[in-house]
Amino acid sequence: MRGSLRRGERRRAAIFLNLTEKRCFQCGGVKPLEEFTHDKRKISGAGTYCSDCDRERSKAYYRANRERILERAAAKRGPQPERHCSECGVELEGRKRVTCGTSKCREQRFRRLHPAEYAERERRKTERRRETRRLARERADTSLAARPR
Ligand SMILES: [Zn+2]
Ligand SMILES: [Zn+2]
Repeated sequence: MRGSLRRGERRRAAIFLNLTEKRCFQCGGVKPLEEFTHDKRKISGAGTYCSDCDRERSKAYYRANRERILERAAAKRGPQPERHCSECGVELEGRKRVTCGTSKCREQRFRRLHPAEYAERERRKTERRRETRRLARERADTSLAARPR
C-alpha cells in the first residue's frame, strides 16, 4: 500500500520502533544514532550524515568556499578600528598591535611602562661605557710610558 503512512505517522512510527541505528546518506554506512550529527527537527534527533562524513563535508565546503566564508566573516565583524603606534601615533598596518615596531618607539614604550627597569638598564650601559673609556685611557697611558723619551 503505497503512501499509506503519512509524514507525521511515519515519524511516530520511528519513535515506536525505538530506532537506534541509521543509514548515512553520504557513505551509506549503518551506524548508531550517537554517531550522527544532531538535528532537532528530525524525530530521531540524528542528522542526515554521520559525524565522520559531516566533518569531511564541512572541510570540503570550506575548501571550496574559503574566500567567500572569510569575506562574510570580515563583513560581519565590520570595519576594524584604526590602530596607531602608542608612541609616535603612526597608523599601524598588518599584524602590528602596539607600536610601529621601530627600535625608537619600542624603547620609548619600555621606558614609559617600566621606568625602573629602564633606569637600571641605562645605568648599566653608562657604567659599561665608563669602564671601556677607562681601559682605553690606561692602554694609552702605558703606551705613552713605553715610548722612549
Ligand atoms: Zn557517513
Ligand atoms: Zn612608532
